[in-house]
Amino acid sequence: MDIQVFKFGGASIRDAAGVRNLAHILKKFSGNRIVVVVSAMGKTTNAMEELLKAYMAKDPLQVLAAFEKAEQYHREIISGLFEDPGHPVGEVIRGLFDQLRGYIRKGHLYTGIRKGYDFEYDQIVSYGELFSSAIVYHYLADQKFPVNHTDVRNLVRTDATYRDARIDWKATKQKISDQVPALLTPTDEQGSALLVTQGFIGSDPLGNTTTLGREGSDFTAAIFAYSLNIHEMTIWKDVPGVMNADPKWRPDAIRLKTLSYREAIELAYYGASVIHPKTIKPLENSNIILKVKSFFDPDGEGTTIQQLGSWSLDVPVYIRKQNQVLLSLSSRDFSFIMEENLSRIFSILASNGVKVNVMQNSAISFSFCFDYDPHKIPLLLDQFREEYQIRYNDNVELITVRHYDPRCLDDLIGSRKVLLEQKSRSTLQLVLG
Ligand code: ASP
Ligand code: MG
Repeated sequence: MDIQVFKFGGASIRDAAGVRNLAHILKKFSGNRIVVVVSAMGKTTNAMEELLKAYMAKDPLQVLAAFEKAEQYHREIISGLFEDPGHPVGEVIRGLFDQLRGYIRKGHLYTGIRKGYDFEYDQIVSYGELFSSAIVYHYLADQKFPVNHTDVRNLVRTDATYRDARIDWKATKQKISDQVPALLTPTDEQGSALLVTQGFIGSDPLGNTTTLGREGSDFTAAIFAYSLNIHEMTIWKDVPGVMNADPKWRPDAIRLKTLSYREAIELAYYGASVIHPKTIKPLENSNIILKVKSFFDPDGEGTTIQQLGSWSLDVPVYIRKQNQVLLSLSSRDFSFIMEENLSRIFSILASNGVKVNVMQNSAISFSFCFDYDPHKIPLLLDQFREEYQIRYNDNVELITVRHYDPRCLDDLIGSRKVLLEQKSRSTLQLVLG
């Protein structure tokens, strides 16, 4: 029997009921050997980012408060899942928190900020997935599932680009294909076997923890599917499948039954948060079908993403990215912004790890939009200020419509100000103030 890979995101395991539901879904698939990739629970990654912020600001009271909040949250989930207050899972989670506390204390006492923000980010924020995978594993074991638990950092090998680590595919594929089949034990009489592991994290050649970029757990699942050479993987979400818009934004959103890899990668690229942009490539390369299914309706059809001849979409797809910064650079002396300037601008963007979501240029100016990041912006602005006159708007919204109907424009814009507009045959992009 083929191995399967299931990924459960933070929203699906945000509380005890969510973890119980995960077990309920796995019950439905008994008889299968499944790698279960989990994200941090609920909003834990954000909470860990808060902790990191307090640590970097050397603010012990805030560090304490962040610890208290994260520990309390996980304790509550544990007490909702395990009747026995002395269950070993409590000790495991306490141990992880102590380890993290030790790391932070050492940083404060001795070296301060060890290797910069991105490095510290990965060492600290990665704990979210360590907590969640331990809780999910212990719960499944408690419920008598035939289950193992492994630290994904022994399998997913990356370079040292902290916060956006690149996969060493050769080493990773080797480790996963060598070790995972043997870890899919013990089995029950039906032949089921589960292996719980973490999404989002990996390790560099020196053994330091790395992360694959926010929402990177989908990508981890794809890495497993690719390395195990299997035919299908499933992402369990809190929506019925891939929708043509975020239903919280456009209540008339509908589910897309099928999607080509090509369309999916475009949607992810433009910011459809349903799939992490890096996820599709390894799947497409080995023709692995991706199912996106509802965590609340496991028998529902969901969306199937696969090789399809055409774009295969007959409805527009709306993607909204909020909290964008629109930055316009103009030459100070009225000189043209030409190839050399552009190449210099892009090298500054690349060296600061800033991804451009939409761009436009005129004779003497270049404008582009990117995700707001309080840490990166001051550094970036300083560098650009040396050469250019700068104007910027923050808190703007980028709306992308694939396969747009020109008649939908007014409705989208409403009373807001259009700061930038761009159209191709298939895609419309608007930056709204
Ligand atoms: N927990 C990580 C994040 O929230 C990864 C993920 O959820 O996929 O970004
Ligand atoms: Mg998450």
